[in-house]
Amino acid sequence: MTEPLDPALRPKTLTEYVGQERLKEKLGVYLQAAKGRKEALDHTLLFGPPGLGKTTLAHIIAHELGVNIRVTSGPAIEKPGDLAAILTNSLEEGDVLFIDEIHRLGRVAEEHLYPAMEDFKLDIVLGQGPAARTIELPLPRFTLVGATTRPGLITAPMRSRFGIMEHLEYYTPEEIGTNLLRDARLLGFGLDETAAIEIGARSRGTMRIAKRLLRRVRDYAEVAGESLIGLDRAMHALDKLGLDAAGLDDRDKKYLETLIHRFAGGPVGVDTLATAISEDALTLEDVYEPYLIQLGFIKRTPRGRVATAHAYDHLGLPVSGVDGD
Ligand code: ATP
Repeated sequence: MTEPLDPALRPKTLTEYVGQERLKEKLGVYLQAAKGRKEALDHTLLFGPPGLGKTTLAHIIAHELGVNIRVTSGPAIEKPGDLAAILTNSLEEGDVLFIDEIHRLGRVAEEHLYPAMEDFKLDIVLGQGPAARTIELPLPRFTLVGATTRPGLITAPMRSRFGIMEHLEYYTPEEIGTNLLRDARLLGFGLDETAAIEIGARSRGTMRIAKRLLRRVRDYAEVAGESLIGLDRAMHALDKLGLDAAGLDDRDKKYLETLIHRFAGGPVGVDTLATAISEDALTLEDVYEPYLIQLGFIKRTPRGRVATAHAYDHLGLPVSGVDGD
């Protein structure tokens, strides 16, 4: 996750953005309508697991509207002063303010954001104690694009101020494959379509992971002296990277095996499970579990996590005595 992504590969328009068809169709209409009325787009909340392209989409929104984007994140805005600095410096009429991890905004800063979103004004308190007075600062009409992996943590007053709320879905192997073929073309190396789809199938439905895997597969191909990455080379490299056919890595397998062997398949609480595999519960909830749920390998129940028959099947374990999925 720490490798720099080549900015040249970032799609700039909705048309270049692969997949998310339902979302793209709606967003296309909202963008066209806002542009037609020469108005700022309504505040937009994008949610879904990490690496699905929320940041990219925020940039596309700004590009399609022909405005500038200012990028920040929830944890960077702790105090009202941090918010005031961002809103009053450099934001122009119609610009996009992108706040990543918006669920991590400081509470007081969040309260100051409400009037900024709703009435495009900011209340600033000058001085302290009895001499303190509030001044109202007008702001340009901007579009807040918020991204979050945890929509459940967005407070109700915050949620109600977004006019557009959209969920990003995991990508299919074919969608990822299409994007990887584009990257290979732009970077000037050969990639077979079957190889691209195979990488897509083992990328947890996530673009960012797919791009990282493509770079590693390319390393293997180059060291082997191959100028075209074929299916065999891709499968060989992905096996070496410890990814199975469903894209699960050693940590996912440890999660499932611990759930099955140590806790008899569950139900077990997420904190207990996290301790057992030396991870923190938030990482389990945000990173491991969404994909395992998507594959139908686990279920979140009120009593805790439960492994499904599919998980036993995938690990080659007998499924007798397990509830169906
Ligand atoms: P998050 O959802 O966590 O914000 P992200 O938006 O940071 O994820 P990006 O960095 O945008 O993820 O995406 C990783 C890489 O994948 C970037 O190079 C981005 O251009 C590319 N990408 C993501 N989604 C798409 C897509 N639908 N079509 C084409 N490229 C994509």
